[in-house]
Amino acid sequence: MRFSYVSHLYCPKCSATYSADEKNNLCSCGSPLLVSYDYNSLKEKWKKEDLLHREPNLWRYHELLPVKKKENIVSLGEGMTPLLSMGKLGEEYGITTLLMKDEGLIPTGSFKARGSAVGVSKAKELGVEELAMPTNGNAGAAWSLYAARAGIKSHIVMPKDAPMITRQEVHVAGADLKVIDGLISDAGKLVGEAVSEYGWFDVSTLKEPYRIEGKKTMGLEIAEQLNWELPDVILYPTGGGVGLIGIYKALKELAEIGWIEKEKLPRLVAVQAEGCAPIVKAFEAGGKDSEFWNDSVTAAFGINVPKALGDFLILEAIYETKGCAIAVSDEHILQEQHHIAEREGAFICPEGAATFAAAKKLRQDGWIKENETVICLNTGMGIKYPETVPMNVAVRSKTERL
Ligand SMILES: *Cc1c(COP(=O)(O)O)cnc(C)c1O
Ligand SMILES: [Zn+2]
Repeated sequence: MRFSYVSHLYCPKCSATYSADEKNNLCSCGSPLLVSYDYNSLKEKWKKEDLLHREPNLWRYHELLPVKKKENIVSLGEGMTPLLSMGKLGEEYGITTLLMKDEGLIPTGSFKARGSAVGVSKAKELGVEELAMPTNGNAGAAWSLYAARAGIKSHIVMPKDAPMITRQEVHVAGADLKVIDGLISDAGKLVGEAVSEYGWFDVSTLKEPYRIEGKKTMGLEIAEQLNWELPDVILYPTGGGVGLIGIYKALKELAEIGWIEKEKLPRLVAVQAEGCAPIVKAFEAGGKDSEFWNDSVTAAFGINVPKALGDFLILEAIYETKGCAIAVSDEHILQEQHHIAEREGAFICPEGAATFAAAKKLRQDGWIKENETVICLNTGMGIKYPETVPMNVAVRSKTERL
């Protein structure tokens, strides 16, 4: 048995192929690259039973991940997050089986840990010494912490409006942090210039191929946790769409090696905020890619992405699974976030709350049926977003009776 069955990289746009043993970023045509595996050998040699005694983290799927040597793995224990029943909420919404995949319980407090665990591990394997990225927050936090563990130097550029907590995470990791008076697109421009000048490895969203591989493990876990019977619908808070692209890729790969049925892929739903909904706009127009969303704004900063590099891959995943794209307002997101904590005891992030607000709406519209199995993805922990819960409790005298 090989540790990894990775074979090569390929371009989903022009079909060019690249080596998985060299540092690669985008295809020469400008498209993100995807990772391919030796599916025939996997089908023959890799069995579901092989997973039985493995550790409950995402490296249990190492055959279908790109890291070739076990010693290159950089891990903080990420993966195998719980798939929780949300019974009370499901009853309110009129959905018999409503589940939450809770990525709040993961190192760095957001599911960006998955992408960075695999991305940083592969960077280490390829001999990367310094990496760089623009970030709105959680990605920079996760990548700088995993890079610290790997002994890789990281250069992180953040807009000044990115949440303070994520800045602090980058700082405590000892990264080179630059905060700019500008937007994520300005940060991206600066990183682009710096990587060509200094030779740093560019790990901007989808500009390196391995982050998707980390995030696809959510799809592998969901399948395994449901005993290889897939749900009907998966709702995903979509910014760059890496997780959605990843889950779709994972399910297709599982079908390819014969672990699940090809015909029964779940309908994938891209959930966005009304203040930044380029994918929804493209979906409603039946388009294959999206347009830049001007003046984007939402409290769910993880999904504040005006133009995703992989927009065509997100839309393909939606169309191919007969899914949809839907926008919800910040007002509904924050209402639902509060409501979920009260009813289910889960303090989730606003991005995660957006998927519940969307599930509720899609059930009301009849797009989701009562007896369907529905999974909402909570992509991070609520305590990273203290500003989403404004409150004012007066301090009383200690002798005043309760
Ligand atoms: C980055 C992020 C998202 C969006 O993830 P993509 O895969 O880039 O679409 C959603 N939620 C949180 C908490 C995030 O940090
Ligand atoms: Zn190409």
